[in-house]
Amino acid sequence: MIIVMRSHASETEIKEVIKKIEKMHYKPHVIKGIERTVIGAIGDERGKERLQSLESMPGVEKVMPILQPYKLASREFKPENSKIKVRNVSIGGKEVVVIAGPCSVESKEQMIESARIVKKAGAKILRGGAFKPRTSPYSFQGLEEEGLKMLALAREKTGLPFVTEVMDTVDVDMVADYADILQVGARNIQNFSLLKKLGKVKKPILLKRGMMTTLIEFLMSAEYILSEGNPNVILCERGIRTFETETRNTLDLSAIPVIKSKSHLPVIVDPSHAIGHWQFVSAMSKAAIAAGADGLLIEVHPRPEEAFSDGAQSLKPERFAKLMKELKPFVIASNRSGL
Ligand code: PEP
Ligand code: MN
Repeated sequence: MIIVMRSHASETEIKEVIKKIEKMHYKPHVIKGIERTVIGAIGDERGKERLQSLESMPGVEKVMPILQPYKLASREFKPENSKIKVRNVSIGGKEVVVIAGPCSVESKEQMIESARIVKKAGAKILRGGAFKPRTSPYSFQGLEEEGLKMLALAREKTGLPFVTEVMDTVDVDMVADYADILQVGARNIQNFSLLKKLGKVKKPILLKRGMMTTLIEFLMSAEYILSEGNPNVILCERGIRTFETETRNTLDLSAIPVIKSKSHLPVIVDPSHAIGHWQFVSAMSKAAIAAGADGLLIEVHPRPEEAFSDGAQSLKPERFAKLMKELKPFVIASNRSGL
């Protein structure tokens, strides 16, 4: 349920409503708008009609049900776009944000070199995987904490915040100690214990759509994080599996406007994992911006031919720099800025 407070409701009235929601064993989620405060009462769907009685409390304008199965992620609950702050960067505002870097963290030198390359070309956030979800147990699995230290060093040298994947609940606290954004990979989209744990973390979460996840399931996974108290979720479309074999996945660009109509959360696109071949990353990046994406997640490697993982889809430094220049007119045409 959404409890809409009157525009001049006092702090005491708001507090009383929060107390009452808790007493009824629901969790209050408060959004303080410029005009008025709105409180979401989230919990057991059975018997939620009881909350209707809050309408008689002082300061309450009306109580309305949220019709969608995702509640806190919905535009019904929060009509205006969410902006997620990551150090000095904001995702979901007017500015398009590019996140770039290698698939895997391989060494100190590789990470610092990568960070310098992507920063020079205009990326605002660095990526690099220290825990790698690989199809084969014999493939490179990542440098784990050593890798996190290398990412932190690259941040220190360049000032770029970084995003890195966390695969397991046992590593969440450690990864959160280092990273600016924690990534949930496509394969973990419905790992509900991981999502719940990430809901308790104080850092933003980059949630990747699974390769066979519907948009409603995607938003329900985001809801797991939001409902545990972490409002900072960035959604990432990274391609879904279809019958097509010429591309690694099929980039579902329709996800961008559809999610944006349903949810206030920012949506970014990962063209690298979607298409799987560096040659097509540029076209799909432009298409994503044109379709309204709030940002891009692009794999860039100083020497893709030497990459420990995903070399075939990684851009060389000069190709990334060229793409960043070519993206500008698309950003402007979409009435955005930032590049
Ligand atoms: C990645 O970003 O390196 C990754 C493994 O992506 P995904 O989970 O989308 O496959
Ligand atoms: Mn990768």
